[in-house]
Amino acid sequence: MTVRSVNPATEELIEEFEPHSELDVDQALANAAERFQSWRLTSFDERAKLLHAAADVLDARKDDFARRMTLEMGKPLKQAVAETEKCAWVCRHYADNGARYLEDERIETDASASYVRNLPIGPVLAIMPWNFPFWQVFRFAAPALMAGNVGLLKHASNVWRSALNIEDVFSEAGFPAGCFQTLLIGSDKVENVIRDRRVRAASLTGSGPAGSAVASIAGDEIKPTLLELGGTDAFIVMPSADLEAAVATAVDGRTQNNGQSCIAAKRFFIHAEVYDTFRDQFVDKMKALRIGDPMREETQIGPLAMKSIRDDLAVQVEISITAGAKPLIPKMELPQKGYWFAPQILENAPDTAPASRDEMFGPVASLWKVSSLAEAIGRANDSEFGLGSAIFTNEKSEVETAIRDLDAGSTFVNSKVASDPRLPFGGVKSSGYGRELARDGILSFINRKTVSIA
Ligand code: NAP
Repeated sequence: MTVRSVNPATEELIEEFEPHSELDVDQALANAAERFQSWRLTSFDERAKLLHAAADVLDARKDDFARRMTLEMGKPLKQAVAETEKCAWVCRHYADNGARYLEDERIETDASASYVRNLPIGPVLAIMPWNFPFWQVFRFAAPALMAGNVGLLKHASNVWRSALNIEDVFSEAGFPAGCFQTLLIGSDKVENVIRDRRVRAASLTGSGPAGSAVASIAGDEIKPTLLELGGTDAFIVMPSADLEAAVATAVDGRTQNNGQSCIAAKRFFIHAEVYDTFRDQFVDKMKALRIGDPMREETQIGPLAMKSIRDDLAVQVEISITAGAKPLIPKMELPQKGYWFAPQILENAPDTAPASRDEMFGPVASLWKVSSLAEAIGRANDSEFGLGSAIFTNEKSEVETAIRDLDAGSTFVNSKVASDPRLPFGGVKSSGYGRELARDGILSFINRKTVSIA
């Protein structure tokens, strides 16, 4: 069935795609398996040179790639350009550090030499979401290729031009054919790919149900997986915080990428001593955000990526309000065409409401007053998710308590949660397992071979 790509700002058709046939997929898997046998023998220097070339292609064509991302999924163009630049950064990061990350690890034993050698494992399938169409893929692909693996991409069905553009980046950079291939397939065709003996592992960034489905199949085949799933990140503000910085970061953290980020701050726990001031400034700043055509320089909030995302979010907000949450921003007029959703803050949602419990994938913040750090942390941890967490405070003891007690894959102090090629990234609980980026990321799909020489 033809797959239609629709501009979420206008609902106009951009392009149609013919999915790959079973034969196409089989050929891609054969190419990957064959290429792996020569790619694994290349030197780190050769791989690094090609990754630097990929970074140069990204820099040279960033406006073109960014425009297509914005057309396909609606993020403000400026943010799409920044995303492309960050992809060049992650390529250069692994080009410059990959060999060091993968060095042999000498271990003293009774043998004359013993060590761990980090070897690639083969073709890895990456199942990726639409919200950062380039970044999610490059943070998988750069370490995978540097390690000597080859990549197969199954991208979300609404960003297939971006998927093909990514494949172009690697071929224009000079990577041999078969190192990185895009499979234009729907999610119903993923199972066969995972089960294929030529595929050695799978990485999925996306929702819980998708993660669970992929991990079950891979588990059945005894293949490793890495899961980067959803989040309802807590953002705590204590009395000693720089309040102006906390408010500005709260707005940015909640609304980046039109609010569709796994690590967006979603639940805000504000100490009673500063609650009223924080709330008033937060409301003013969220109200003042400029919503509109994501192609325009001044736009801060574009449309949500799909009709279903917009409709699901509207239902979550409606149920939360009915359950007792108070909306702090009056409804505003939005264009009829396009999947628009105005920023909103919900105050005091009860524990059972979607605003407390579920991931809200759009520019909607949930806000509560707390009387202590212990209460804030207790409520932050009362969630099935555990991706990122942030605290604004200038009390050293509070920083230490937050680091020790927040049950999340990261804690950022006096800044928003953000990914960085130099730092590991990942979650706990239903936010997934495994780590991407930094040294952890390149070790994700590796055979840590034990060598012992008598
Ligand atoms: P999604 O619906 O789970 O889709 C993600 C990818 O999985 C898509 O390629 C999708 O393909 C595929 N997929 C869906 N169901 C599948 C199944 N049963 N078997 C195999 N593949 C399946 O997620 P999304 O709506 O694109 O992305 C939003 C979610 O991703 C949010 O929960 C967000 O928090 C999370 N996310 C997490 C991170 C992180 O680093 N932790 C980063 C970004 C996003 P189709 O498009 O063809 O359905």
